[in-house]
Amino acid sequence: MSIKLEEYFGKMRIVSLARRKETLEDLNRSGLDVVYKNQNGITLYPEGIHYNLKDKDEFTFLNYEDYDVFELYTDGTLIRCFSVASTENFFFITPQCNSACIMCPSAAAVRKLHEVKNANWLIDIARHIPVTASHLTITGGEPFLAGLELFDFLNIRILLRSLSTSKVSES
Ligand code: SF4
Repeated sequence: MSIKLEEYFGKMRIVSLARRKETLEDLNRSGLDVVYKNQNGITLYPEGIHYNLKDKDEFTFLNYEDYDVFELYTDGTLIRCFSVASTENFFFITPQCNSACIMCPSAAAVRKLHEVKNANWLIDIARHIPVTASHLTITGGEPFLAGLELFDFLNIRILLRSLSTSKVSES
């Protein structure tokens, strides 16, 4: 399921969803890019630009919740990559793999020839996923072929969780 912001021609970016004013304020305080769902469409922050939605996209938004995370593409396509309500959020890093397991469901050509995508986008996603997320799956292929960015993703998650834990113990 995807949504289209017809007049968006900006850069590819990661955004969090706010449906309530309090969530918008919380995400703004965290310095994260946000799509704020209001009655007549959505507003993109930090720039505060409003976009109208088609009826079918208004309907699709009913499936999404506060703090869900989306990839927003340069043509305005909005695709959810993290769902707060799900315990099965997974990130498919690459189909490439340097093993050759006999039971592998992927064709050898896919495992050997497919390029590993730059994994920088994972770092931005890591910042947006709420610290309360208890379970994330990283999969492939062999995800560690993505290199050091994958460790950055893991390190940011560990850092955010430890900051949140220390805030709780201080209060
Ligand atoms: S993708 Fe998984 S199952 Fe397939 S060869 Fe690599 S490690 Fe083995």
